[in-house]
Amino acid sequence: MQNILELKNIGYSYHSLHGETKALDNISFGVREGEFIAIVGPSGCGKSTLLSIIAGLLEPEEGTIAVNNPDGSLHYPKIGYMLQKDHLFEWRSVYRNVILGLELNHCMTKECLETVERLLTDYGLDKFRDKRPSELSGGMKQRAALIRTLALEPQLLLLDEPFSALDYQTRLFVSEDICRLIRAAGKTMIIITHDLSEAISLADRIIVLSGRPAIVKREVTVNLTLADDSPLAARNAPEFQGYFNMLWEELTHEH
Ligand code: ADP
Ligand code: MG
Repeated sequence: MQNILELKNIGYSYHSLHGETKALDNISFGVREGEFIAIVGPSGCGKSTLLSIIAGLLEPEEGTIAVNNPDGSLHYPKIGYMLQKDHLFEWRSVYRNVILGLELNHCMTKECLETVERLLTDYGLDKFRDKRPSELSGGMKQRAALIRTLALEPQLLLLDEPFSALDYQTRLFVSEDICRLIRAAGKTMIIITHDLSEAISLADRIIVLSGRPAIVKREVTVNLTLADDSPLAARNAPEFQGYFNMLWEELTHEH
């Protein structure tokens, strides 16, 4: 399958009164339609910066992002962004939180509101629609944040450590759950995580970044033999430990 996005030699530095911080250096990789890409790398290496560039929130200083839609059109994919914190507003009910993006973008159409209803039901949040965010568990809050993101029908989802605020057990289930829904919806996803096991279990391909300034140290295509489709299946796959060791080596041996 061809790449829908092609990052070519992306470079970026932050400039301040105290000087220059080079965050990204010569980053190139492609993103295929429907693909799940995980980006791993040491803390502070430039992962969030890279995601902001892909989201169009930051202009790359060097390099380009080429668009290559299968139908030949040149529009940039519609982006959905999910951050570490769920950013739900306590003064709004769960329902009014999940429709916030639709409200802000003047997209309160019948279709979009139906999508929200379906997602609320699928995610078991239907009965909690009139609650406040603080009355939900961490996993439910994250699901509400995902519904808000999916309501705008993005083609490319960018997730910046979306599960790191959850406790370990919740995280296993929520990450699996959320990624399954994103796959079922046929979306393309780029997820940043510092959890190597999460990267291996969720991604089709893992991009390993070096310490700052980040370069692409390695791209790893993940192929797992899955016994079933439980959240733990990937972690029990025979190939799992081999990938883990390979990634660990890459991350702990900086050249
Ligand atoms: P990561 O997400 O991998 O932890 P970031 O992309 O957030 O890393 O940041 C990469 C580097 O750029 C870090 O050293 C950080 O301190 C620096 N940085 C991030 N944002 C800014 C900013 N707005 N101004 C100056 N430096 C920044
Ligand atoms: Mg970050």
